[in-house]
Amino acid sequence: MDQNPDSHSTRRVVLPSGRSIEVLLFEETTEPTARSLHVCPDCESDLVQPVEWSEAPEQRWQLALRCPNCDWITDEVFEQAQVDQLEDRLDEGLSEMLRDLRRLTQANMAEEIDRFAAALQTNLVLPEDF
Ligand SMILES: [Zn+2]
Repeated sequence: MDQNPDSHSTRRVVLPSGRSIEVLLFEETTEPTARSLHVCPDCESDLVQPVEWSEAPEQRWQLALRCPNCDWITDEVFEQAQVDQLEDRLDEGLSEMLRDLRRLTQANMAEEIDRFAAALQTNLVLPEDF
């Protein structure tokens, strides 16, 4: 990440002992003007997905982004930090999806087991079914 000289500020902190120290505060997040890539600037949907990636010079990325909600499309060069943020966001989305899928699979299996158990009890499952 670029260490922009303006990206930190100092704050004087007085310790209980009476000594004062100067603390350097670095901005850990990207500048407020840098928008989150997963948010659509048109409809504010947070489902924007990258459709194409390629490396650009100076550790940047050329990304084609698309909003599935309003079909907004862009093809721009973004900073590494912005892309990292988008990747984190996509990872979150993916793990949420996997969690849902697992829950769904479990729910389906539970239902099948219930049906199977009910069928067994009512003698609907016969040896010739296997
Ligand atoms: Zn949109």
